[in-house]
Amino acid sequence: LSADFAYLARDIQAISTADYVHVDVMDGMFVSNISIGVPVVKSLRKATDMFLDVHLMIEKPVRYARRFCDAGADLVTVHAEADTPENITAAIAEIKAAGKMAAVALKPATAAEAVLPWLDTLDMVLVMTVEPGFGGQKFMADMLPKIETIRAWITERGLSCALECDGGIDANTAPLVKAAGCDVLVAGSAVFGRVDRAAAVSSIRNA
Ligand code: ZN
Repeated sequence: LSADFAYLARDIQAISTADYVHVDVMDGMFVSNISIGVPVVKSLRKATDMFLDVHLMIEKPVRYARRFCDAGADLVTVHAEADTPENITAAIAEIKAAGKMAAVALKPATAAEAVLPWLDTLDMVLVMTVEPGFGGQKFMADMLPKIETIRAWITERGLSCALECDGGIDANTAPLVKAAGCDVLVAGSAVFGRVDRAAAVSSIRNA
């Protein structure tokens, strides 16, 4: 979301030292903004071999989960709040059937417990550390207990599920979320707001 959309291939090349490319998809309904969709993911797939981590901030993601997989996503994240539990289960099944990794995201107001119906089947859980919808927001430190809770469940159950946080992550907040149990950190402004993107990535990785 923080890249220059007119120069996505160039901007992805500039973050080639990162582990994933995080793609924020917004529909103007689940969140008020509209960002990018299936055709852009398809083009990104042609432009890079990097892991595409596609974060769907859209209503009823079951409608589009398969299409984002076919477009080249490696992992697709759906929001627990975006549909009925039955339809979220169906979206996860679509992603798995396409041979891709599946994650469920939780908005700040959503309790950790909301992920429990799917935790055993997920490749990743995403805890939003800002309100989803736009970049450049301040990190919400009150999300740290939620991260700790979900990390404890993953450990207790012996799951290989990753734990991602998204929003307000920089070299100052990275140590907080790592200590709470996150192992996948999404950074937007903290990377693209700096001239040396590789240095920004390593400052977060080594924070
Ligand atoms: Zn995101």
